[in-house]
Amino acid sequence: MSENRARRIDGRALADQVRNDVALAVQELKKKNITPGLAVVIVGDDPASHIYVRNKAIACEKAGMHSKVIRLPADISQEKLLEKICNLNDDSNIHGILVQLPIPDHLDENAVIATIDPNKDVDGFHVINAGHLLVGDPKVKPCTPYGIMRMLENEGVSAWGAEAVIVGASNIVGKPIALLLQAAGATVTICNSKTRDLAAHTRRADILVTAVGRPDMIRGDMVKPGAVIIDVGINRLDDGRLVGDVNFEECQSVAQAITPVPGGVGPMTIAMLLVNTLEAAQRNVL
Ligand code: NDP
Repeated sequence: MSENRARRIDGRALADQVRNDVALAVQELKKKNITPGLAVVIVGDDPASHIYVRNKAIACEKAGMHSKVIRLPADISQEKLLEKICNLNDDSNIHGILVQLPIPDHLDENAVIATIDPNKDVDGFHVINAGHLLVGDPKVKPCTPYGIMRMLENEGVSAWGAEAVIVGASNIVGKPIALLLQAAGATVTICNSKTRDLAAHTRRADILVTAVGRPDMIRGDMVKPGAVIIDVGINRLDDGRLVGDVNFEECQSVAQAITPVPGGVGPMTIAMLLVNTLEAAQRNVL
């Protein structure tokens, strides 16, 4: 492999910039007596989920927003959970609601998301918001894909006419980023676990987005020279290290730019949650 070293896309620096912009906009809204408010609902006691939720609440407060964490027991009934969400829908101090996923198996995730007021759905997972995205008229964009688009824009990477290959087809990352890239002019391929020859697809990619949850899935010889790689995956190795889906060392020698894990997409996801909460509060004023 060549001596080439890809540009490291600094998600933390961009996220800081976005968060500062949000904080300034929050100050403006406060002059109109509106403090954007985010409610995060967490069901059960998964330690990782509790850390994510705490980080979201801290980020909100740092941006001058109001945040409320609703901790519910793992054995809560579907009816009770939906009732809690309805109460938040009616709470005028709350502009954004998110339910931390996954939720316990006895609860119906789709029904839970469908109960959130689409105007307060700051994760952008409600079918109404997914539908708006599908028809090219996005209202609330899911945070991770929204953050990826901001990163590409910030790096001066145009999707117009580019081959974009997405590995992973989930509702929260793979499918919405495919729609956003397509709307930005890319020719998009979405790969999943049934894809026969993954490397044949990834090698065509000018923009490669991986969202699988499998370390070392993308090796250097699977990448087109000069590609831009966005690694969404978060994987905890046995030795405690956090890595993405991409073999960073190998791919860094081939690509033009690459996001690290940690410090890439993750910080942007939280920053865009703040943007979505701010925008939800701003819609309230207009
Ligand atoms: P899901 O488990 O919902 O989806 C994984 C996708 O990967 C599925 O579409 C699956 O295919 C596909 N897949 C599995 N194996 C292969 C394979 N061998 N080849 C090609 N595709 C494959 O995951 P999420 O989208 O929720 O998350 C993906 C990763 O991104 C995780 O590591 C998660 O932690 C991380 N993540 C990071 C975020 C961040 O802010 N940085 C935010 C959200 C997620 P199929 O459809 O056939 O099952």
